[in-house]
Amino acid sequence: MPVEAPMKNVVCEKSRKALQFVEDVTCNADEVQRKVLAEILSRNANVEYLQRYGLDGNKADRETFKKVMPVASYEDLKPDIERISNGDTSQILCSQPISEFLTSSGTSAGERKLMPTIEEELGRRSLLYSLLMPVMNQFVPGLDRGKGMYFLFIKSEAKTPGGLLARPVLTSYYKSSYFRERPYDPYTNYTSPNETILCQDFYQSMYSQLLCGLCQNHDVLRVGAVFASGFIRAIKFLEKHWILLCNDIRNGKIDSKISDPSVREAVLKILKPNQKLADFIEAECSRESWKGIITRLWPNTKYIDVIVTGTMSQYIPTLDYYSNGLPLVCTMYASSECYFGLNLNPLSKPSEVSYTLIPTMAYFEFLPVNRTAPTPLGQKTDLQELVDLVDVKLGEEYELVVTTYAGLYRYRVGDILRVAGFKNKAPQFNFVCRKNVVLSIDADKTDEVELQNAVQNAAKHLLPFGASLTEYTSYADTSKIPGHYVLFWEICLSGSAPIHPSVFEDCCLAIEESLNSVYRQGRVSDKSIGPLEIRITEKGTFDRLMDFALSQGASINQYKAPRCVKYAPIIELLNSRVVSNYFSPKCPKWVPGHKQWCTPN
Ligand code: AMP
Repeated sequence: MPVEAPMKNVVCEKSRKALQFVEDVTCNADEVQRKVLAEILSRNANVEYLQRYGLDGNKADRETFKKVMPVASYEDLKPDIERISNGDTSQILCSQPISEFLTSSGTSAGERKLMPTIEEELGRRSLLYSLLMPVMNQFVPGLDRGKGMYFLFIKSEAKTPGGLLARPVLTSYYKSSYFRERPYDPYTNYTSPNETILCQDFYQSMYSQLLCGLCQNHDVLRVGAVFASGFIRAIKFLEKHWILLCNDIRNGKIDSKISDPSVREAVLKILKPNQKLADFIEAECSRESWKGIITRLWPNTKYIDVIVTGTMSQYIPTLDYYSNGLPLVCTMYASSECYFGLNLNPLSKPSEVSYTLIPTMAYFEFLPVNRTAPTPLGQKTDLQELVDLVDVKLGEEYELVVTTYAGLYRYRVGDILRVAGFKNKAPQFNFVCRKNVVLSIDADKTDEVELQNAVQNAAKHLLPFGASLTEYTSYADTSKIPGHYVLFWEICLSGSAPIHPSVFEDCCLAIEESLNSVYRQGRVSDKSIGPLEIRITEKGTFDRLMDFALSQGASINQYKAPRCVKYAPIIELLNSRVVSNYFSPKCPKWVPGHKQWCTPN
């Protein structure tokens, strides 16, 4: 659909301003950071947390802050967060009222972390979003002449005992007026009507978004989701439901399973009987190979907008297959704590993507990473060690520490970043990894300690049968969608009687029950993670694994079986020695919100 000239001028002017903003804040990165910290400290001079460290009134300056403010992890903040969640409205972390909690995919004691936020943060998030398309437009012009097919979803919400909402940051954003009432702009013109995005039922939401995307297939110039895993789920959904979708397009009627009246009404404004389109989709979807299905069904697509940095890089080959190698574009880097920055060179290869932190978003500091002697979360850090945004060194790795407007002070986000270059004075970072995470399929992040505890709990099921677990390792199998966790177990049997498969199935479920709430939500509600699998290996397999590591140069004195493996030859070695395998027979238990909160709504 052509964009009218006056609208085009407005859009051009908005884009010009956005790019100028990026230029200004990156040129003056240190001044902006100084101002941001001063603003945060002066506004919050009366809050308990700052007063606890003597940062009240006149002493709330950068130098004092740097001297006295400790680096904090979530565990340090937990007592304060619990007070707020239980209804204490005094100024504990922030002078402005905490509007809600954002539930992070990072967990503490098995439950999602609760990140406090304030109303005005929505404006900051919205500002970062508004920079993305002006940047993109410099590299792929003409995106204003069509639409974006984005699969966006909201998730369940809960209320804390004190009555604050607790929900994921994107659910909060999509439900806000910033998203719902966005003025018409060719760059935020999506194929999915708001009603389909805001439908809580995953099946109805996905079905209706795909239906609308198919109906407008020639208008689609870019496709995407937040993370790669989400986009691939949409393609898998299409593989399963294309016959129904084609029927709807052929008849101009929407399947009765889509029962939400507002979704039906919104879809029916787009859906018209179209025999030709239905025949075309049917012909493409019934072909044996789905290679290049994205470019076949949406022929004008120029790129896929999904995050494929970090653990999501495991999905790159699948995306390449379905898209015949369309560019994969990672536009931004953000979290529940704070939105951080954007990719100013969006067509760069996934392995080279770097994010420029936007200095107005928060006050950023960096803890140098010492790979040989890392500072564990919870251990006190030398405050002098923290480096400011403009002082990081090219090629060095750092852990990100943020001080936010919403009341986090020197908070360790848990991400490791490497300096890849500079935009003016502002550094650009490669995302290296999330600290300690060993397994991840979708939003879940399982660390070694959690895995160890879960395996220990499960292995107890073997004891009554005269068996014990001697070694284990794991990997995230994403060769099928949804992906699933695989555990390789070597066991020692004292009796001669074989162990019934149901015992191992119980072990699978016991592991799942012990894993954190984000994992269990992925299994139960989002269905983005498949049943956990245990593969029993022959005796001596882990010795072979050690031999392999030694042949690659590991030291025998220091060798420990890895608790997670990613290297294909090692996975092959393990798979070649599997004697039996078992899957979790059902979903683990999961409730929205923390277990101890009573009524989700
Ligand atoms: P959450 O707190 O659940 O919103 O998750 C935020 C985390 O997701 C970040 O701290 C990162 O670990 C990860 N993440 C967000 N954006 C990116 C990105 N562009 N590349 C890699 N990881 C990301």
